[in-house]
Amino acid sequence: MVDWITDYLDGVGELPVFPSDLRPGDIRRALPASAPERGEPLEGALGDFRNVIVPGITHWNHPSFFAFFAITGSAPGILGEMLAAALNVNAMVWRSSPAATELEEVTLDWLRQLVGLPEGFDGTINDTASTSTMYALAAARERAYPTSRAEGLWGQRPGRIYASEHTHSSVEKSALALGFGKVGYRTIATDEAFRLRPDALRTAIEEDVAAGIVPVAVVPTLGTTSTTSLDPVAEIMPIAREHGAWVHVDAAYGGPAAIVPELREGFAGWEEADSIVINPHKWLFTPVDCSALYCRHPELLVRAFSLVPAYLRMPEQGEARDLMDYGVALGRRFRALKLWFVMRAFGREGIVARIRTHVELARLLAGWVDQAAGWERMAPVPLALVVFRYAPPGADEEETDRLNEAIIDRVNASGEVFVGPTRLNGRLVIRLAIGNLKTTREHVARAWERLREAAASASP
Ligand code: PLP
Repeated sequence: MVDWITDYLDGVGELPVFPSDLRPGDIRRALPASAPERGEPLEGALGDFRNVIVPGITHWNHPSFFAFFAITGSAPGILGEMLAAALNVNAMVWRSSPAATELEEVTLDWLRQLVGLPEGFDGTINDTASTSTMYALAAARERAYPTSRAEGLWGQRPGRIYASEHTHSSVEKSALALGFGKVGYRTIATDEAFRLRPDALRTAIEEDVAAGIVPVAVVPTLGTTSTTSLDPVAEIMPIAREHGAWVHVDAAYGGPAAIVPELREGFAGWEEADSIVINPHKWLFTPVDCSALYCRHPELLVRAFSLVPAYLRMPEQGEARDLMDYGVALGRRFRALKLWFVMRAFGREGIVARIRTHVELARLLAGWVDQAAGWERMAPVPLALVVFRYAPPGADEEETDRLNEAIIDRVNASGEVFVGPTRLNGRLVIRLAIGNLKTTREHVARAWERLREAAASASP
């Protein structure tokens, strides 16, 4: 299997990045409907893995995977994941695996230093940014409603969470999960570069406070999903502080860029936040899943989530960290191991060099788009994502949307390149994210060539 993994990682660039000939249900139909009565030799499962599963994979490790946020499960990360599976520990309390608990502390403190955050941010690892954000906002709810642990929100004034119209849907999902409802989530307008407008935030909070609504939290994003815009956290902080609102920074994608000295400027102010999420499984070469939640008030996370039945009461309680106290999950995978391997194998220098390369490639593509007749770049490129569209003269907005949809479909159907769509100001645009360690200038150039060919053949 290790040989298979090695060959796969060496040759993934030759596979179709997206299985465009598959339809929903095809994989399921190709597999037995029930488990075998008697155990089989593993060769059988491996054969099906090769013949049925792998052809049904969208290869996130492919150097021409440019959709969503392109990522890399790097070799050191994969090895760390293998060892974690072999150890199979469950780090729910310190005693259930001391090293898993303490390596999580050490690794997240290393990451905190790498991204330039001050001491005082306490880190824990969750599966995803969606979970990390929900936990952070649960702590914010504890602070806004100190009686909520005992009494829930019974009899309380309604509360709101504020984020920009470009914030990831996970933040609104948290508002739903935490009982604020859709009514408790207010979106704030953005500027021409898709950054949250502090003046609009101030107006919204002031209106709400005047109406008796509690401003529970503000969630700026550093690296929004559609354009990687960087919300002006330094300007948002004082507005939130003035009204006692918690600030949770969603740096799920963008966070690792703060390791690069010349990119850190865009993060100004985040060091003042109450909590921050950074996903090593997005742009820090760590296999899915691994999301770091930093919180300045870990005692509020514990107040939100700790509940210790007799069978989980351990002699070290109070002296050691029991990770089960920081979220909903009791059982916890040993996720720190793979992140530790990644940080050791690449070192700060190695991480900086790779993230810098991704940003340079994105800027290169942005330059090509800017110079090409009929193409429009739709947003600045602060990190490693380019959003653009084909807008030939004479085509109206509806036709332009249809054209770009057709271009994306055509390129993705080739199996050579995989890009995605988003919508900006109501218009459909192409999103090309660079984040794979094997992506080179040649891969980006080929993607650009395929897009232009598709535009030529999709044009009316
Ligand atoms: N925040 C941002 C800015 C994202 O782009 C994403 C996903 O792409 C998320 C949060 C959600 O991440 P996760 O899949 O880890 O929940």
